[in-house]
Amino acid sequence: MKPCLIFCTLLYFSSFYSFAQDKEFRNDKFIRHLYHDSSYVNHKTKLIKLFAHSKPGQWGEFVKGVDEELATQRKIIALTFDACGGKHGSKYDRELIEFLRAEKIAATLFVAGIWIDKNTETFRMLSRDTLFEIENHGFNHKPCAVDGESEYGIRGTHNVPDAYDEIEANELKIQKLTGRRPLFYRSATAYTDEACAKIARQLGVTVVSFDLLSGDAIPHNPVDTIVHNVLKNMKPGAIVIMHFNRPEWNTYEALKKIVPQLRKLGYSFTRLQDYPLKEDKASE
Ligand SMILES: [Zn+2]
Repeated sequence: MKPCLIFCTLLYFSSFYSFAQDKEFRNDKFIRHLYHDSSYVNHKTKLIKLFAHSKPGQWGEFVKGVDEELATQRKIIALTFDACGGKHGSKYDRELIEFLRAEKIAATLFVAGIWIDKNTETFRMLSRDTLFEIENHGFNHKPCAVDGESEYGIRGTHNVPDAYDEIEANELKIQKLTGRRPLFYRSATAYTDEACAKIARQLGVTVVSFDLLSGDAIPHNPVDTIVHNVLKNMKPGAIVIMHFNRPEWNTYEALKKIVPQLRKLGYSFTRLQDYPLKEDKASE
């Protein structure tokens, strides 16, 4: 009786402690804390000065300064999965992740700060799994702009300070939770302007888009359409974009069909950090 009592009490307090600790990482608290951190404020001030006169440049998924494929002619590809957060995007596709684990498929997970807020324990668990690489999908899941440009009805960051927070606050949040600073940033919707790509570079982060759109995010896209999109456009070095935050989409069902086909064709899978990226086409 006694050991159970001790154990249960410890469990109760440890779960309470981890809940209290996780609260400190929630976006609202976390950004307030950063705004009182002199090193964050000073760094941000420097960057704002540096980009005070910079123009947005082109707006899109493949603008100058954004990488979109691996540098290889071999049949190696990167499957990347976004977790966006927000009203409809804060779920966790457990079946999909378990499938990747069962098949031992290395993958890159781009995670937004607002998704972490709703899935902190799951996020910690994923970050401990070496099969996965955790990267930055933005603090508040906004497209990255220095002038408030929008895409798919989502308003982008409205100026340089806002763009700085969108990238850097999530870098720090992920780093504090996992012990590793993300190397790559994919903006919400993958849309960014050229100034944002330069800001990210200044922060030591590479902006990554994709070169193979699976189409899993298109509402009611059937399994076979997603399978067809991926297999038809597959090529060595491809970076495929999918999601692991919408279990109601057909991502997992499609992946179950895609993976055996790709293996039959001789493809293998890598995390982004384990392979060099090809310099973006726009700057060639
Ligand atoms: Zn997203």
